[in-house]
Amino acid sequence: MIIDLHAHCNNGSKFDCPETEIDKRSFEFLNKKHSLLNIEAIGISYYSSVLQTENIYQDNASLAEQCKVDKKIFQWLVLDPRQEFLFEQIKSMINCSKVLGIKIHSVCHGYDIEEYADKIFSFANELKCFVLMHPDKISNMVKYADKYPNMKLIIAHLGSIEHVDAIRRSKHGNIFTDTSGGASNLNNVIEYAVEQVGSEKIFFGTDNYDSGFQYGRIQYALISEKDKENIFYNNAKKYFAKQFKNF
Ligand SMILES: [Zn+2]
Repeated sequence: MIIDLHAHCNNGSKFDCPETEIDKRSFEFLNKKHSLLNIEAIGISYYSSVLQTENIYQDNASLAEQCKVDKKIFQWLVLDPRQEFLFEQIKSMINCSKVLGIKIHSVCHGYDIEEYADKIFSFANELKCFVLMHPDKISNMVKYADKYPNMKLIIAHLGSIEHVDAIRRSKHGNIFTDTSGGASNLNNVIEYAVEQVGSEKIFFGTDNYDSGFQYGRIQYALISEKDKENIFYNNAKKYFAKQFKNF
């Protein structure tokens, strides 16, 4: 069993991510690949809500509907901290059993993470929830994790020593990472992270990169079987016990 905690797909909106013959974006395609690997649960935010900022409210609402009809799908609620009504929306949805937490993407949304960090992370601290962030000013995030200990921060796309240092430096142990994305193809990055901070801080994700590639990077890593299990599903089941209780 595998849980993909970090994925994206299109949803038929006019803000969808352009798809080509060699790079598919639909949920159906993602699911077809995932099914080959017994990936049984997928944490999603729509491309249209992370790549731009015009349709986030509607996307959060429509993904919630998709969650209701597909057991596999779990939701990251996307937040652009400049849109006040999104804080209200997230507050009203955060306790849903299909919601994993808040997703932020300062790079694609086009704001300075440090300018809005207190606003975002104090809100997450109040909700005691996870924030999944696209990496941005990684080293500087440690002070916010220390300041807001009830929030848990996943700095996505493990692909640098900075990721690992941030996990190690956080006072309350509330920084995590995920293996999603192309950067995990560095040939010792997974091994280095496990050796330095342990496998309990690392979640499995694909970011809609090829599932087999992302799986293989963990399955054939120079780490123990226990570490692989932690990354593939144990950590997700532990930290998202409510959401994944039937998995
Ligand atoms: Zn992502």
